[in-house]
Amino acid sequence: MSGISIYVHVPFCAARCPYCDFATAPATSRLRARYLAALVDEIAREGVRLGRPRVRTLYVGGGTPSLLEPEEIASLGAALRLAFELRPREATVEANPATLDRARLKAWIALGITRASIGAQSFSPEGLRALGRTHQPEDTAVAVAAIREEGLDVNLDLIFGWPGQSEAAWRRDLASAVALGVDHVSCYPLELRLDPEESVANWPGGGWEVLRRWRSRAAAAQPDDATIARLYRIAERELARAGYRHYEIANWSHPKKNSLHNLVYWRDGEWLGVGAGAHSHLGGIRSANPASLATYLARIAACEPRDVDREADPAGEAAMLALRLDRGLDLRRYASRFGAVAAERVRSALAEVAPAGLVAVRGDRARLTARGRLLANEVFVRVLA
Ligand code: SF4
Repeated sequence: MSGISIYVHVPFCAARCPYCDFATAPATSRLRARYLAALVDEIAREGVRLGRPRVRTLYVGGGTPSLLEPEEIASLGAALRLAFELRPREATVEANPATLDRARLKAWIALGITRASIGAQSFSPEGLRALGRTHQPEDTAVAVAAIREEGLDVNLDLIFGWPGQSEAAWRRDLASAVALGVDHVSCYPLELRLDPEESVANWPGGGWEVLRRWRSRAAAAQPDDATIARLYRIAERELARAGYRHYEIANWSHPKKNSLHNLVYWRDGEWLGVGAGAHSHLGGIRSANPASLATYLARIAACEPRDVDREADPAGEAAMLALRLDRGLDLRRYASRFGAVAAERVRSALAEVAPAGLVAVRGDRARLTARGRLLANEVFVRVLA
């Protein structure tokens, strides 16, 4: 293998945001120590198994990796360097505003980080309250300034469609992101799952019933679908006006600042994911670690492999991922990779939604239209069927 992308999952958070369904866990020092020891073991084992390839892109996500102490970051870096040739073109760490102090930032830079992705979510006190976030609106600008001073690229994550959000409030959030001059912006609609995710068990007492009630109440107070569609269109217009290219359904970037690591996912490339809940795509096989910390720690101690996703539909998933990108799906290359039957299946799925104006097929290239980006799931369910 000539090079690899690596995702490292750090599940710890200072508090659990009630809408979040990532693999998270409380940041107690005992749990962190046990987890990092297991993570280091897993990294070492994978490095040997894969023949110590070069790391081309690295993404440390969570959870809140920016909560790690400098010495924990250093031991993670040492493990990665020992197991892999760590010379990434891009290395991102996810950070929450108000967690990334100078000492931690220096430690991440020593590990090789080139980019920080900040979970701003909103710049308004109402938005942060509605989302159950604990940071203050002004914390994001402070974090961005500190990261910029170190010469790193910055992505901001924003959420739209929170309970009570108006179009004016969303315009203000977008304007605040643009005013900070960040390189990249991700905008996600608030989606509230009403079934418990596996990592609920990582938190003392579980508390799923409390979360479920919060989510039901929040869902009832969200803007309706037509308003959410308008909020998305506003993001498209405002970010284009500010010079950002809309290169993926939920992602905008300045020229040459798109996320190289995430492009590996969207281009159906291969990557190794380590840590609780991390997914991998290697040798054409999708697999995942358990999101429950107890199960993950036991698996690593017993040297057991990741769970292989036997339900995976590689051809359907590759088509769906390509359609997320502005350059769309090259049907000729797709046919040569997955064969005529898979290509025909995708062509007929696209033909089904083309009359509704969701996709445009020109020659061998299929792309979502503006309407298709809004209703992308209508396209994806057919492509995956
Ligand atoms: S800080 Fe991020 S990862 Fe942690 S609970 Fe909140 S949204 Fe989820």
